Amino acid sequence: MRRPFVAGNWKMNKTVDQASVLVQELLSGLQQFTSVERVLCPPFTSLMLLSAQLKDTGIGLGAQNMHWEGSGAFTGEIAPAMVREFCNYVILGHSERRTYFGETDETVNKKLKAALAVGLTPIVCIGETLTQYEAGETQQVVVRQVLQGFKEIESAAASQIVVAYEPVWAIGTGKAATGEGANMVHKEYIRPALAQLFGSAIAQNIRILYGGSVTGANASEFFGQSDIDGALVGGASLKPDFITIVESAAR
Ligand code: PEP
Repeated sequence: MRRPFVAGNWKMNKTVDQASVLVQELLSGLQQFTSVERVLCPPFTSLMLLSAQLKDTGIGLGAQNMHWEGSGAFTGEIAPAMVREFCNYVILGHSERRTYFGETDETVNKKLKAALAVGLTPIVCIGETLTQYEAGETQQVVVRQVLQGFKEIESAAASQIVVAYEPVWAIGTGKAATGEGANMVHKEYIRPALAQLFGSAIAQNIRILYGGSVTGANASEFFGQSDIDGALVGGASLKPDFITIVESAAR
């Protein structure tokens, strides 16, 4: 059985003070649903404070990105071990990183190896753009992102990885995929690509989340599906609605 997983990607929102207030607002609600693996991913600047605030609460902490190198002349970047000082999770290859900061399957692959090497649980984002979706290229794109992004990963480490299928056209647009449509991509395209790399037993253990305009109102449509193991939530993770999403994953 794959344990349900819900992560909140706060993106570039909240100062340290604001982040601390938001955690206080969400904490007791989130703590009720222990069957769900719950993770908050605030900006880097809040990781230190939130790691103290979330200690012994059962709620995990993740970064939204990191560099693959261990240290050195990479101005503005954060190394894996620096993330690991405060976090157990890291989001990699989010479509906003791919679109605005030039990330590719190759850099995602380097980051993935580096994250696993320091004991972080990577949440690896994949998904097609609107143009690719309209051209009928979803399968080709997500399979390539898995085969390239997960290249040369040991099978033993693979079950620790969490995949987030996030069609770019659904992120922040209010136009979520349908539960059935996302499940089809998970079941027919992504899991078989994982099986091609790691074998079907390991592929069956890897959690595949859906992300893209998930709210408390539509979450149950996704969590009712056979191959949707949770959600990566952007906008709604900044509101009490996030608790409703986690509650829905717990059912
Ligand atoms: C995201 O940023 O990963 C995301 C899914 O955003 P939203 O929920 O706002 O669409």
